[in-house]
Amino acid sequence: MGTPVQLKDQSRDELEQLLIAWGQPPYRAAQLWHWMYRKSVRDFEEMTDLPVDLRRQLSQRARLDACWVRQRREDPVAGTVKYAMALSDGLVVEAVALRYRDGVTACLSSQAGCRMGCSFCASGKSWERQLTSGEIIDQFLRIGEDLGGRRSSRVVLMGTGEPLDNYEAVLQAVRRLHDGTGMSYRSFTISTCGLVPGILKLAAEQLPINLAVSLHAVDDALRQRLMPRAARLARVDRLVAACMVYAESSGRRVTFEYLLLDGVNDRVEDARRLADLAGRVRAHVNLIPFNAIPGSPYRRSPPGRVAAFGARLREAGVAFTVRRELGAGIDAACGQLRQRGSGSEADVGQRSQ
Ligand code: SF4
Repeated sequence: MGTPVQLKDQSRDELEQLLIAWGQPPYRAAQLWHWMYRKSVRDFEEMTDLPVDLRRQLSQRARLDACWVRQRREDPVAGTVKYAMALSDGLVVEAVALRYRDGVTACLSSQAGCRMGCSFCASGKSWERQLTSGEIIDQFLRIGEDLGGRRSSRVVLMGTGEPLDNYEAVLQAVRRLHDGTGMSYRSFTISTCGLVPGILKLAAEQLPINLAVSLHAVDDALRQRLMPRAARLARVDRLVAACMVYAESSGRRVTFEYLLLDGVNDRVEDARRLADLAGRVRAHVNLIPFNAIPGSPYRRSPPGRVAAFGARLREAGVAFTVRRELGAGIDAACGQLRQRGSGSEADVGQRSQ
């Protein structure tokens, strides 16, 4: 009978072609799409407007699930929920639900591990494989299911992995979630360590997707130390120029992510240069308190230095925020969940640094 088809890897057109090939009328694809994306059902038997023999055929020849919640951990104060999501081959990736007053943001992984090797990040210490579009989509749907059917209103691709290093699958996932759930493209944020060809390719799509760029250093030498692969691929000036192109073509404001590391990149001089770069792009700056990972040489900047850094940005007229803590009771550094999940303890961790 062959390998079952993973339905969440299929576009709506592909689904239609598949069902036509099975001798079904094209409108069955729209029904199936509705059950998958609007109703989020996990069992073909629940698709009550599909004929019984099609449901039987689907259960024999297709799969609805692309990931499963293996572990969840909730911070009782912040309400953040961190998930270890198991994939069909046993790999585990991380996803996070962030609760805000105006809704839930789902933070999804795009790769199992990461090839970029940033020195402050646990995910960059291992590489497994690319995720499929269906595996990215199903993290979102699993979170909604876990929260009692409460659909996230925003999606950030800030979990494990570099989304632009898995461009096609990520964009397919965004397009399908937009089409399947009705979420606007403005509700999606793709976070990158600065892959310029990917930024320009995304710019050419002319979709109003938000772009967050992990800058973390304002000069090439320090960026080379913190993010060696990303820095090798593009100088800061070239990255900033690509961000200007993106902002222009998408009509969206770019965000610069800036992880504050004690004594490394948190001097007033760094703030001055960051303000200059952000001014060129009219970027919003997101200052991120560092969450130490075991064995890390870095420490979090003290509150006084964070305040002085922010004051310099404010003086320069740069809009900025300091990322709120996501839950002190939960590991909050990149890749920690997956690393621990392979041992006896399976806590939930999160990236986004
Ligand atoms: S910070 Fe992002 S790009 Fe860098 S290693 Fe971690 S997951 Fe990869």
